Amino acid sequence: MIMSMQIKQLLTKKWHVTYSQFVWLVSLYLVIVFNGLFLFNVFEAASKPEHVDWLFIASVPFFLLALAAMVLSWLSLITFVKPVLLTSIVVSSLLFYATLNYGVIFDKSMLQNILETNSGEAFSYLNVQVIAFITALGVLPAYLFSRFEIVGNFRVRLKSFALLNVTAFIAVAVIAVPFYKDYASVGRNNRQLTSYITPFAFYTAGYKYLRDNYFYPPLPFKVLDKTPHLLAKQQSSLTIMVVGETARAANFSLQGYDKPTNQYTPKLGVKYFSDVSSCGTATAISVPCMFSRLDRNHYDSRIAQSQENALDIIQRSGVEVKWIDNNSSCKGVCVRVNSQTVEPTKSNPLCDGRYCFDEVLVEELAAKLAKSHAKHQLVVLHMIGSHGPTYYRRYPEKDSKFLPDCPRSDIQNCSSEQLTNTYDNTIAYTDLVLSKLINLLQNSQADDKALLYVSDHGESLGEKGLYLHGFPYALAPKEQTQVPMLFWSNKLADTRFNQCIEQQRNQAFSHDNIFDTLLGLTHVQSTEYHPEQDIFNACSTQS
Ligand SMILES: [Zn+2]
Repeated sequence: MIMSMQIKQLLTKKWHVTYSQFVWLVSLYLVIVFNGLFLFNVFEAASKPEHVDWLFIASVPFFLLALAAMVLSWLSLITFVKPVLLTSIVVSSLLFYATLNYGVIFDKSMLQNILETNSGEAFSYLNVQVIAFITALGVLPAYLFSRFEIVGNFRVRLKSFALLNVTAFIAVAVIAVPFYKDYASVGRNNRQLTSYITPFAFYTAGYKYLRDNYFYPPLPFKVLDKTPHLLAKQQSSLTIMVVGETARAANFSLQGYDKPTNQYTPKLGVKYFSDVSSCGTATAISVPCMFSRLDRNHYDSRIAQSQENALDIIQRSGVEVKWIDNNSSCKGVCVRVNSQTVEPTKSNPLCDGRYCFDEVLVEELAAKLAKSHAKHQLVVLHMIGSHGPTYYRRYPEKDSKFLPDCPRSDIQNCSSEQLTNTYDNTIAYTDLVLSKLINLLQNSQADDKALLYVSDHGESLGEKGLYLHGFPYALAPKEQTQVPMLFWSNKLADTRFNQCIEQQRNQAFSHDNIFDTLLGLTHVQSTEYHPEQDIFNACSTQS
């Protein structure tokens, strides 16, 4: 009874504080509660085996506190103190949850990845644990801070604002001057560290995303080749490009994985490429990048969007191009070609109203091939593949080969065995779907038939404490960047061609090769084609 009275008093009590006191208090809360990981990473980066500069390390939280107070005071513009500061607390709790549980950090490409994800995927992250976490560290503290009453009119606050900034500036100077060398060297060698500063790294990423997507004037659209044309016109061709989702090379038995995740495609004589790296660690980067003329080092989403991609050039040469999507979208790649998004209607036994299993792509491809009689066709199939965290929703129950699996979205609470089983089930199912697509292709009447499968990026399954994907590329573990790629063609029946591919398949390739490889597979001659980048060029000219 007394206890509940006390809690009630605490919840209803009003405290009077000055403007600067309020900003300092919230800054302190943000630094202590949400920036432990950042401080730990600074400690790791600054510690050398021979000695640890404790004085420098001890200065970092104070430095961060002074900066946080300055930034928050400016963001809130004296007038919007509570909305800005309290929102920052709630936002920080959400960011901190993601970083703590999935190892996700929030840079611009991560934000792009999140914002271009459909809401269905976003909801798959919701569970009791997230809600409890955000309530405890975000909503409740924000409510308690909202009970503070900031005293004084605008003039009084303005004075308080000035005092805060002078104090914080002096603190930054006092710390920065003696430790200048340490801050500069740790900062220069570990640029990504700043991505851990919560919530400011997120705000910076948000600003950059808005600037790049909404405030920069659009670039004039660039046609890369006005007159691409088809070689080998007499022969008909059917090329299937399958864009995988979140499949990592390490879990393919074709890559040497010890569980039988590829039970179907090897029987069809596919060629597996064992050293392929992705362009990005997220769909929003990798998918447009692999179809773009730009390579990974020069990839820029703004430039890529304002120029033609491989599909545009292939279409202009006379090939009928179609994109069929069972994922969130084609990320702008298919805007100028015929495209279709699979409707997840419940009337289809492969769909549950929200998602469809990838076998739906086999149905859609069969329907498309039955309808179209174009002599040259390229069909791109965009899978949902192994998209997390709800891996268990990616395969029908009858196809759960590896048990026990992890039928929930808070994957960090499953045992590592369960999690791996679930993920492996998605890979085994992808293999089944690919084999069915190849069967369709085998039955087609086209003279020249090929299927190329490549995943968009990999996935972390708890290695080094990381889950999911989207880690900054430079720091990303190979689980997120090494992707499976496999190839089937009726030309593999030709021994010389087959042996030539066999010699190629362990060389290092990447998404940078996909643009030219697609042009090569569809027999398109273009000024944009670089034969040395076409994975199959050396073999095709031989046969
Ligand atoms: Zn993806």
